Amino acid sequence: MPLSMRQIESATAHVTCPICQSCVINWSEEQYIQPCQHTVFIALDLGFEFVADSFEATLAHSVDDIHQHELNVLDEIKKSTQLPELLIYQMPLGALDYSRYIGFKQR
Ligand SMILES: [Zn+2]
Repeated sequence: MPLSMRQIESATAHVTCPICQSCVINWSEEQYIQPCQHTVFIALDLGFEFVADSFEATLAHSVDDIHQHELNVLDEIKKSTQLPELLIYQMPLGALDYSRYIGFKQR
């Protein structure tokens, strides 16, 4: 299945929504995760930080199951039936080889 993924080089970059330009990852805020209506998930390799209900419904396993069984988060994201409609940003977490993934609707 095709995966639209863009790389962000910096772990401390602000991330803006490609549709509404809302700052979804804003490091100058204490609450730095601010999902907009186009954000379907924000995830680390180790688990989800945010997931829209409509996106969770397209996954093979619930987020609780993914966390409880320590399933690979990106593998589970790739199983979403919504994947063809999504644009996923990948950015380094700044620790080991972990990444953060931010999924947006493409329209
Ligand atoms: Zn948006």
